[in-house]
Amino acid sequence: MESSDEATDDLPMPPYVTAEDVVFALRAVNVHAPEQQPDGQRCRKDQAAHPCRLHRWGRRVLAKRGLTDEQIQTLLNGGTVALR
Ligand SMILES: [Zn+2]
Repeated sequence: MESSDEATDDLPMPPYVTAEDVVFALRAVNVHAPEQQPDGQRCRKDQAAHPCRLHRWGRRVLAKRGLTDEQIQTLLNGGTVALR
């Protein structure tokens, strides 16, 4: 029987998000980017339904660090954002 609580399937969050975690998270979000497939968006790395586990983890880490979607996009595009 499949659990309806997806959160239990998620990767553990670091208790405190360091600058190194931010780098890992950005890499995860970047590598685990969506790819359009006939049956919908899938992770181009592991072919899981997008957003995949690692993509979600990366987004959560970045959100916990206080980064907005806009700032995340800037970083993914090679820009710089002042981290708090
Ligand atoms: Zn993935």
